[in-house]
Amino acid sequence: MTKSALVLFSGGQDSTICLAYALERYARVETLAFDYNQRHKVELDCRLEILKHIPTQNREWGERLGDDHILPLPALAEIGGTSLIGAGEIKMQENGLPSSFVPGRNLLFLTYGAALAYRRGLDVLVGGMCETDYSGYPDCRRTTLDALTNAINLGMESAITIDTPLMQQTKAQSWALANEIGGAALVSLIIEHSHTCYEGERNHRHIWGYGCGTCPACKLRAQGYQEWTAA
Ligand code: ZN
Repeated sequence: MTKSALVLFSGGQDSTICLAYALERYARVETLAFDYNQRHKVELDCRLEILKHIPTQNREWGERLGDDHILPLPALAEIGGTSLIGAGEIKMQENGLPSSFVPGRNLLFLTYGAALAYRRGLDVLVGGMCETDYSGYPDCRRTTLDALTNAINLGMESAITIDTPLMQQTKAQSWALANEIGGAALVSLIIEHSHTCYEGERNHRHIWGYGCGTCPACKLRAQGYQEWTAA
């Protein structure tokens, strides 16, 4: 174990699993989130809770966990036009993508992440991008990430890689992976502190965690949990 990693850590279910995965796999792990005036800052609060609790789960994780970074990206809100930034109900559009899709958001996140990784001397970007959600956001697909990796390394004369442990996982498989990596303690941490709900709802606790229970993100999380526990 010699390589080091920067985890794109938003405080959601998937990025929390990615953080635990990275702490198992890499010698030094730093974390990164973006503040782009998202509708709900609750995710940013949740991630700090998770970072506080992670070292109590596993002593080695605590030793490997390094600095946390938050980069402001207000330009995303300036571009706007989507449900996660500013007003608007989140619904499925005719092109099969939810209205929360922010065009090119992951390209920006990964490019900023690569620049920070370069400065921090980190080898690998770890992200929860997934092709199974909504048939895959186009900027989360592996083909997109491979092309971006190429562009980044050509442009920075670097050898940064992008590790996406959840790429082919269903939500049920993600819960199973969390259990495999960190057992009941990690599953419990995800339920109590990770945030997925598009509505920013944290008053209602379900067996799978907090959320409105009706937005597309809550439905996906609940369905995955039910499938996993039924298996
Ligand atoms: Zn919700």
